[in-house]
Amino acid sequence: MVKINPSNVVRLLLEAYVRWEKSDVYDHERELADNIRGVIDSYPTSTDMQEFLEAEDQLLSSQSLSQPSSDSSYHSTPEDPKTMNIVDFEYKKKAVLYWREEDGQPRQKKLKWESVRARYKQLPDNTTLYRWAALVDSGQKITMEKLKVIFEATQKRFIAARNERFKKKMNIVSRKVTKFVTRSYDDERVDLKVKPDEFLALEAKPYLENRGMAAFGNSDQSGFLRELHSGRSLTFRGERHVPGRIQSQNAMTHSYTIQSTITCDGRMFPQMLLCLQEVGGKFGPQVEKIMFDAPNIHAMASSSGKLTKAHVLSWFEKDYFPFAEKDSTILLDSRSGQKDQEAIDKLIPAGKTLRLLTIPAGATSMIQPCDVYLFRIWKSGVRKFEDRGMLDDLPVIFHQRDNIIELQSIMHNQFCSPRFKPQIQYAFYKAGYHDERPAKFQTMTEYCFDSVSLVEECYYCQRFYFMRCGWCTRALCFDCCWNGYENAGYHFCEDFVE
Ligand SMILES: [Zn+2]
Ligand SMILES: [Zn+2]
Repeated sequence: MVKINPSNVVRLLLEAYVRWEKSDVYDHERELADNIRGVIDSYPTSTDMQEFLEAEDQLLSSQSLSQPSSDSSYHSTPEDPKTMNIVDFEYKKKAVLYWREEDGQPRQKKLKWESVRARYKQLPDNTTLYRWAALVDSGQKITMEKLKVIFEATQKRFIAARNERFKKKMNIVSRKVTKFVTRSYDDERVDLKVKPDEFLALEAKPYLENRGMAAFGNSDQSGFLRELHSGRSLTFRGERHVPGRIQSQNAMTHSYTIQSTITCDGRMFPQMLLCLQEVGGKFGPQVEKIMFDAPNIHAMASSSGKLTKAHVLSWFEKDYFPFAEKDSTILLDSRSGQKDQEAIDKLIPAGKTLRLLTIPAGATSMIQPCDVYLFRIWKSGVRKFEDRGMLDDLPVIFHQRDNIIELQSIMHNQFCSPRFKPQIQYAFYKAGYHDERPAKFQTMTEYCFDSVSLVEECYYCQRFYFMRCGWCTRALCFDCCWNGYENAGYHFCEDFVE
């Protein structure tokens, strides 16, 4: 496959769509943009991408070097191109200006380059001064700054682009990536002996009315391939093979499962179950000792990565009852319920009661709140992390055990932010449990990943942003999110700022 430089592709796209005005973003436009990214990411990138990343690093180091300090004993030789490059544009501009002007007037007597260096110590030699001057005259900025501008403009154009028209014109179709194994966790047969609306009216709503929204919950499992991808990729019509670039072929067939709980009043329970696929169905003793410990994750294992009856019982005991209201009602589908009422009853703590409502088989896609809305957002959030990992070739391998735990811990922590209450309430509204449509709100992924301006910098270290925290509202770079500022630990947040 021919190597590409993504920034060239983006620039070409930008040129093609310059005439479009900005408008509101629709879901299908977002999907198209994701798909285009998928295509770009599926190509091996040229070394230019490496330069792009290096440019970013240089920009960062230049920020700390750009202020000339009196005690700086900066020496550089032309043989050291890297040190020459880390001088930022503003600094060069100032140096050139100082060389040419005095008090806003052109200098009467030309200044020697050594005199310029006396003040701008990062200037290594005479030639460089002329280069800086040419650069300043051409109005060019360093690569990274250019890319920032291009990316910002491109995003505007992308979101303004029309989905169908674009696809037709380019003869591009959205297709399922052929190599990916898609799995259907919803194996149940359609059984409409109990109609969904009857279930809602006769079984669910009476409990909702009598016990209140806070006591009415829904919990469901969601399976993840160890590496999740957008699954669809744009391809030219007629192309047979749709390759998806993946970090590990093996990882695609392995999976894990999460089980989280939400309530009708918009809360997410502060802890969830995460079941990883492990050889022999359990963690080795050594693994258990050193395994990543996340405050909101109850980690278990099974040989398939799916939940067995024992897992579901453990979920009731550790992840449900401690956080449930005194008299609670939980909606489960026939899979999650596992139909062992007797064993479940034994786990009910003294002083609490439980009413378990089983969603009729075949109706979960219509009336299970987690299914109709929540997990879709959850998965797209996970994808943002994984796509970013792929794009930057980050040393984070998302199919490794500890990284799965951390990734899901971050996602769950974000979902728990009071900011996303309306999103959870909306899941229950959409599934038909109440009639009060929450006021306009941003979903977790919209707020965390799409609301940061492309030129915004990380709150902690001024690097390129990656996401905005749904709790503290801060923009974070990937590193400050994943490892924490100065490796202080990943961004697990509970400081809510309106
Ligand atoms: Zn940062
Ligand atoms: Zn935060």
